[in-house]
Amino acid sequence: MFDVIIAGCGPTGAMLAAELRLHDVRVLVLEKETEPASFVRIVGLHIRSLELMAMRGLLERILEHGRKRPAGGFFSAIDKPAPEGLDSAHAYLLGIPQPVIVHLLEEHAIELGAQVRRGGAVARFEQDDEGVTVELADGQRLRSRYLVGCDGGRSTVRKLLGVGFPGEPSRTETLMGGMEVGVPQEEIAAKVAEIGVTDKRFSLRPFGEGVYQVIIPVAGVSDRAEPPTLDDFKQQLRAVAGTDFGVHSPRWLSRFGDATRLAERYRVGRVLLAGDAAHIHPPIGGQGLNLGVQDAFNLGWKLAAQIRSWAPEALLDTYQAERHPVAADVLDNTRAQMELASTGPGPQAVRRLLTELMDFDEVNRHLIEKITAIGVRYDFGAGPDLLGRRLRDIDVKQGSLYGLLHRGRGLLLDRTERLTVDGWSDRVDYLGDPTAVLDAPCILLRPDGHVAWIGDDQQDLDDHLARWFGKPAD
Ligand SMILES: Cc1cc2nc3c(=O)[nH]c(=O)nc-3n(C[C@H](O)[C@H](O)[C@H](O)COP(=O)(O)OP(=O)(O)OC[C@H]3O[C@@H](n4cnc5c(N)ncnc54)[C@H](O)[C@@H]3O)c2cc1C
Repeated sequence: MFDVIIAGCGPTGAMLAAELRLHDVRVLVLEKETEPASFVRIVGLHIRSLELMAMRGLLERILEHGRKRPAGGFFSAIDKPAPEGLDSAHAYLLGIPQPVIVHLLEEHAIELGAQVRRGGAVARFEQDDEGVTVELADGQRLRSRYLVGCDGGRSTVRKLLGVGFPGEPSRTETLMGGMEVGVPQEEIAAKVAEIGVTDKRFSLRPFGEGVYQVIIPVAGVSDRAEPPTLDDFKQQLRAVAGTDFGVHSPRWLSRFGDATRLAERYRVGRVLLAGDAAHIHPPIGGQGLNLGVQDAFNLGWKLAAQIRSWAPEALLDTYQAERHPVAADVLDNTRAQMELASTGPGPQAVRRLLTELMDFDEVNRHLIEKITAIGVRYDFGAGPDLLGRRLRDIDVKQGSLYGLLHRGRGLLLDRTERLTVDGWSDRVDYLGDPTAVLDAPCILLRPDGHVAWIGDDQQDLDDHLARWFGKPAD
């Protein structure tokens, strides 16, 4: 018997497993693939995800494997630098191969005590009042109290739940792979430059160790369940470039579409959805992995609270209430970015106009706060603007604020040094006289770093502690 079974050990599943382990939840991650992914897709970790890594003490480890880049220039690839003074101690983008970030998150989850079983595909499940019985493709049956589908865009869990996934289907497809070439680099560069004048989506560039990365659009949409073959790449290269550049010895071959879809519900009873299982959209702007990891960060402590029996009644449902609108917004900004990237004269005129508007600091700042997710504000009711937002990392007497959040607990920052979290001290830490720069007398942070309360009254604080952290311990 496990507390939680997670279907899928991608970035979302691995992050969720680690978050649950912080609270001693018995976690099993089932991953259908026997080996880690072989593709070498470089993804961008945006500011909020870097902050999450800092909050769990993972950032240094991750920075060793990635390349820092400026935070700006990602909204539909419009080439504008980020505005001055972004509100974060980690105001950059980190480029990192997706398999590396998945490996690091999986390693972290295992270090914390999660079990990961490869070659274990979830095929069926049934839920009842006490738990979920999960059946693997080989017929083995396992039991847990909750099941979370982090099994990607084609999620078996979502389909078995019968949760609708409305949106727009793929209209175009892109082949992406790593392979060697049979012609000199100068010849490739000249051809790529020539095609680039009219088609910005085509790319063929050195990727290190003699391997080239090929990205090539395809007309129409095929059955995407099957990976493409080298012949598919050759055929498409000839169609687009008039030559296949003698490509050979593929290292990895993949394809992706541009479907945009959002699950109607994130929870049905004891089964939940997170990451690509709950939302898919084209990769423009690089937000999908970030969104999934942030779903996991929002869900982890709430599900742990449910299992540890201190969750207030509605806490688990705040996962959907908070994260569904965030995903809807990402889908929308992605739709907008796709329009701005299309080649028709209308969209190109709008792109030129937006490029001009981005010279206004507020416009540029709004777009970058959106794409990096530091602008997210959950609806916690009426209150100051900071309520519901994440608090940036700040210096405190003990070092950095995020350094105090590694254990995934709540935290009261008390400048008055008059308040107490007694009754909740098994779930919430206390820091008196934290720093001079805090713009409020006291702030209560949730384990995900969002501001749950601002004030200076003990009774009001107790009410909010109960709202987020349940009844006080006896
Ligand atoms: C070309 C490209 C570039 C991208 N660039 C970026 C970027 O720069 N930034 C960004 O944030 N995002 C980017 N993305 C999106 C990102 O890759 C995805 O959003 C991310 O992988 C989603 O993570 P996930 O863990 O939710 O799902 P996945 O990564 O799809 O992981 C799901 C896991 O579940 C497993 N699984 C599936 N079915 C089962 C089952 N029945 N039982 C058990 N296991 C199962 C799968 O094998 C897989 O390991 C890009 C995507 C593409 C295609």
